[in-house]
Amino acid sequence: VLTWVAYALALAAVAAAARWYVRRVDELGRRRPFPAVSVALLALLTVAAAAPGVLRAREEHRLARAASDLAGRRVRVHCQTFGEEFVDAGAEIGYVRWRADGRPESRTVLKYEPCRDLARYLRSGKRAPTFEQVVAVHLLTHESMHLAGEHNEAVAECRAVQRDTRTTQLLGATFGQARALAARYWREVYPRMPEDYRSRDCAAGGALDEGLGDPPWA
Ligand SMILES: [Zn+2]
Repeated sequence: VLTWVAYALALAAVAAAARWYVRRVDELGRRRPFPAVSVALLALLTVAAAAPGVLRAREEHRLARAASDLAGRRVRVHCQTFGEEFVDAGAEIGYVRWRADGRPESRTVLKYEPCRDLARYLRSGKRAPTFEQVVAVHLLTHESMHLAGEHNEAVAECRAVQRDTRTTQLLGATFGQARALAARYWREVYPRMPEDYRSRDCAAGGALDEGLGDPPWA
């Protein structure tokens, strides 16, 4: 909605300037002053209204680059706006829709809150992520596993915990910061996940251990 407001404001600014231009000389031949204050004010409001949309688009682009790397194909990330989240009754904080042929769509939808946490994480120094930021970074990995074609929640979750270090690095963290974030998810969040998201095989040497370089249990 704000983006439409921005368009309307930009149009109003142009209209004010155009209105001045066609009537810049009055009936007595005197020059009318340019409506600098109203045009500047409209321009300022335009920028203010457009900023959230522009920032969200930039964030989505950055997240999509990481998700594409993780999923092994080109995918998109959509961050819900506050309004979209308000009308979305779903309980999950992110999802991938599945097509009739059983394959995933090529985009994931992340709710407003985790997207805000991811934006804050991207802007941060990445030294001391909040608990919510840890969960949000992992969410991106988890949904990327669905985008890669994994339907089963426990398998997607286990594949994700083994790639959280990579995701975190893709978002700009150092290797040390990334390992710490992945380990924290594994210790603090994974054990508390609902049963269908966990598996006894998700452990060092377990059936779901892919033998990747940086498992969280190392
Ligand atoms: Zn899932």
